[in-house]
Amino acid sequence: MQSFSIGVDLGGTNLRVAAVTPEGERLDHISLPTRLTAGPHAVLDDMAQAIRQIIDKQPGKLLGIGVGSPGPLELPLGVLHRPPNLTGFDGLNLRTELERRLDRPVHVGHDAALAAYGEFHLGAGHTHAVDSLLMLTLGTGVGCGIVLEGRIWQGMQGSAGESGHGPIIPDGIPCPCGARGCLEMYASATSIVRRAHELGLAPATPEPSADSAQPLTASAIAQLATNGDERALKIFDEVGYALGLSLAHLVNALDLPLYVIGGGAAAAWPLFAPRMFSTLREGSYVYRMSMPRDPNIFEPGITHIAPAKLSDAGILGAALLPLPARSPAPA
Ligand SMILES: [Zn+2]
Repeated sequence: MQSFSIGVDLGGTNLRVAAVTPEGERLDHISLPTRLTAGPHAVLDDMAQAIRQIIDKQPGKLLGIGVGSPGPLELPLGVLHRPPNLTGFDGLNLRTELERRLDRPVHVGHDAALAAYGEFHLGAGHTHAVDSLLMLTLGTGVGCGIVLEGRIWQGMQGSAGESGHGPIIPDGIPCPCGARGCLEMYASATSIVRRAHELGLAPATPEPSADSAQPLTASAIAQLATNGDERALKIFDEVGYALGLSLAHLVNALDLPLYVIGGGAAAAWPLFAPRMFSTLREGSYVYRMSMPRDPNIFEPGITHIAPAKLSDAGILGAALLPLPARSPAPA
């Protein structure tokens, strides 16, 4: 009988629960809409019920429960502080509320940190057998997670990895965090769509009309760029510039062997990578000292920037959170 842990991904739109083996094999999963309008306690009831439902079906031993949540999340307490993507959850103690419902210990972490942890153990970190990595997740916002010597670095109060809110453009676009010119305002899927509207890009439909026009998405804009649309290409060039500036700071500060770019918008890697690498080379002498001769060939002692390997690193990382910290197994 296969032992397993539970990974939970609490998102603003969907609530997902999975049973996962320590090797990363998914045994079962449930996906539900997050009933934000019903309030946090209804969402927690849904979550507890889904977790119990999955546990009851598994014959193997339960090794623990890990939950990934959007922040700001105070750790190790597990208290949410005005999370912009979880309306009504301000002040909620996610960990103790869930432990009370399940009568079992629960581990909680930032969704972006857990995506980095999943990628560390089962994705790019596993492939390259590194002991540390940083991951930027390009989605609605820009998440960031840091794994140092096999452990999630969460910082003094759980706020490590807020690089999405690192200002990179002086006097740039105001960000909801209160700063201006944050990476998130230039490299998230949301920012890609905003730029497309600013540049007057129309939705890609064969015969645009009020009824048939689809909302413009980052992936549709990536398709336009792939087809050679100059404005769409410009947008991804700007994304690459923003990522390169941010990575220059991160590489200079951390000197890690691997930086992973994940999230939905990372699928546009071929569109933003050239400008990202040229900006990083110009901006970081630490990178210039250790850059690979060929970005596609991994060598120890070299700084690598690579696309994520997993499409679902967050929930896998959440399932690994309750397990003892370990080094990634060699690929
Ligand atoms: Zn910000």
